Amino acid sequence: MTLEFRDVARNYGSVKALSGVSRTIEAGEFVALVGASGSGKSTLLKTINRLVIPSGGTVHFGEMDVAKQQLTELRRRIGYVFQGIGLFPHMSVAENIAIGPRLSGEPIPPERVVQLLELVELEPSMRTRFPDALSGGQRQRVGVARALANSPQLLLMDEPFGALDPITRDALGLRVRGLHDELALTTIMVTHDMAEALLLADRVLVMDAGQIVADETPQALLEGAGGEVAQELVAVPRDQAKRLAELAKLSAPL
Ligand code: ADP
Ligand code: MG
Repeated sequence: MTLEFRDVARNYGSVKALSGVSRTIEAGEFVALVGASGSGKSTLLKTINRLVIPSGGTVHFGEMDVAKQQLTELRRRIGYVFQGIGLFPHMSVAENIAIGPRLSGEPIPPERVVQLLELVELEPSMRTRFPDALSGGQRQRVGVARALANSPQLLLMDEPFGALDPITRDALGLRVRGLHDELALTTIMVTHDMAEALLLADRVLVMDAGQIVADETPQALLEGAGGEVAQELVAVPRDQAKRLAELAKLSAPL
């Protein structure tokens, strides 16, 4: 299903968190939303599942204005991984994963919980654990499993891998990209890490001061497209790769 932002704005007092955002995301796309802290990424993501109500403009999901859809039905079709995960500490892994369907009156059976754990490569025995007995990466995997519990069409992730070590982060990123392909999802991932965006997404939207200032494929960005703000972000991993290549050359046997 197509997702469409039509001239979306959101003000907080005098702060324009979003202004004039218009964009269409096609079914099946994996889109990364990149930009500096405070550029409006989370605010834009939250207009989709109505955690934020726009001050102006509309968001359409599957041809229909999200403001006109029944909230539980809308959220059932949208998986959401919070910035900072947000597992309930007093609930087991299984209870955390099953909370969405339970709240919407369609509880899932234990086999489905095990299947969701398998999707994120966690052992079935994890289901009785509590969040404080999990590593950061395991918690994040539970967050993804929970977002998938309702079999959503659209997966929204807000800096899902922010707090993870680089190896765990890379593995989980690849797993999420795999899930996107296997489950035929439409995915929007907020990240401040351009390298992650370039490596995982089909399309990268760059935000600056509440607006989308670039909309490019990773390939095009690497070839120099997208303008100044986008290229500043691309320069970081590119320069790092160059420096690493030079180091490797220096240490190569003659
Ligand atoms: P990002 O996710 O890119 O870091 P946000 O979407 O969280 O940015 O925030 C965009 C701007 O809106 C920032 O200036 C932020 O301070 C402001 N903002 C976001 N949410 C609120 C809120 N609930 N109340 C007041 N200001 C907010
Ligand atoms: Mg944010």
